[in-house]
Amino acid sequence: MNVYDTERMTGLLSLDGIRAVDSPDDADIIIINTCSVREKPEEKTYSEIGRYRRLKKKKGNLIIGVAGCVAQQRGEEIVRRFPCVDIVLGTQNVGKISELVSEVASGKKPVVKTEFYDNSNINIGSFGPFPRNPNRYTAFVTIIQGCNNFCSYCIVPYVRGREISRTSSDIMDEVRSLVDSGVFEITLLGQNVNSYRDPKGGQKFPELLRMISDIDGIYRIRFVTSHPKDMSDELISCFKDIEKLSSHIHLPVQSGSNRILKLMNRGYKVEDYIDKVERLKLVRADLAVTTDIIVGFPSEDASDFEETLSVMERVEFDNAFSFKYSERPGTAAARFEDGVTLREKSRRLEVLQDLQGRLTMKSNLKNIDSIYDVLATGPSIKNPKEITGRSDQNKIVNFKGTEDAIGSVVPVKIKRALNNSLWGEVIRP
Ligand code: SAH
Ligand code: SF4
Repeated sequence: MNVYDTERMTGLLSLDGIRAVDSPDDADIIIINTCSVREKPEEKTYSEIGRYRRLKKKKGNLIIGVAGCVAQQRGEEIVRRFPCVDIVLGTQNVGKISELVSEVASGKKPVVKTEFYDNSNINIGSFGPFPRNPNRYTAFVTIIQGCNNFCSYCIVPYVRGREISRTSSDIMDEVRSLVDSGVFEITLLGQNVNSYRDPKGGQKFPELLRMISDIDGIYRIRFVTSHPKDMSDELISCFKDIEKLSSHIHLPVQSGSNRILKLMNRGYKVEDYIDKVERLKLVRADLAVTTDIIVGFPSEDASDFEETLSVMERVEFDNAFSFKYSERPGTAAARFEDGVTLREKSRRLEVLQDLQGRLTMKSNLKNIDSIYDVLATGPSIKNPKEITGRSDQNKIVNFKGTEDAIGSVVPVKIKRALNNSLWGEVIRP
């Protein structure tokens, strides 16, 4: 979502002739787009500001902006603590970037814009067109902003506000213009895409998926993130009917213990989660399932943690993002007694990641000798003589090839499974 917001800000600024440069040393404007989901990225924001403060001293004329979730959360406090910051731009004000930059350029500073809007006073869900990076084959499209779920550990509802869906016509216009520019894979974004609802026509997420899949030129559709409690039968059947839907779902389980899930306010039990995954796999046998897991949530004990490991083994996740619980100000869980020591959190994370490493390898080994259509997106980072892309299951696939493969869908036979990727050879028809 932050990548998308950054693209949006870059695109809007380009309308004023402002273009991106490769190095901060060459920049006249630096906008730091921030994340506050855990303490670490928030701290990183402050060290980045410190870095650019030194650059500003050296250069004299430099506009520094802080955007995104930390900007939203801390607001005025940022300019008080760091007088070098000229712009603080909250999460629902991304569309105002050009206005704010020109205000600052004309001498009015600092500007802090962190108000939230709701559906009634401004159609914030309407983004309008903005120029995108050309020569791209895959692109993000936000369909819903904010979150109404208030999981007890999570700061997102506070920094991104309540759910606001964009109209399906606005989304379709954006997708069509991306297709016209050469994009053929779309990833739909939202904190919880399952609760999408067109504010005008009332269409829900499965209907939106069908509408997008009808657009000529769209090859593959992905989406993140789905909340398990809102994974409806209708959405499950989309994996049966919509061929363009990628064989991958990111479905965060967070914990394998029903006691912890309740404290997290997640709204489902482990049994419900497993049932939904099983039903998804019934309609799409090769579906890859990835997840998010938090270890060391307040009061998580050894047996809760064991239950998390056992749900991982039961589901055999293809991959998992796992995190140590990080207390976030203002959340419900910040009032809970954080009984788990940092050392124990680190130990649990290590055990969990070790298990996931084995499960990922098991999943990757299953792909050997299969042929996948790979959307080639660029040269491989590790080996410039190879091309990289993603399979339908969203796994990284590297293969020997030349740059003319980039931007096309290439049939690749998988020969080797690695820890984080697959390696294969192009099959010539
Ligand atoms: N909307 C998505 C993702 C939100 S943030 C969802 O509901 O799944 C991405 C992930 O960060 C979460 O899934 C969760 O695993 C993790 N996360 C959120 N808050 C956290 C916290 N306070 N400490 C540690 N991890 C956290
Ligand atoms: Fe955070 Fe829960 Fe909303 Fe995801 S669903 S953004 S974890 S509150």
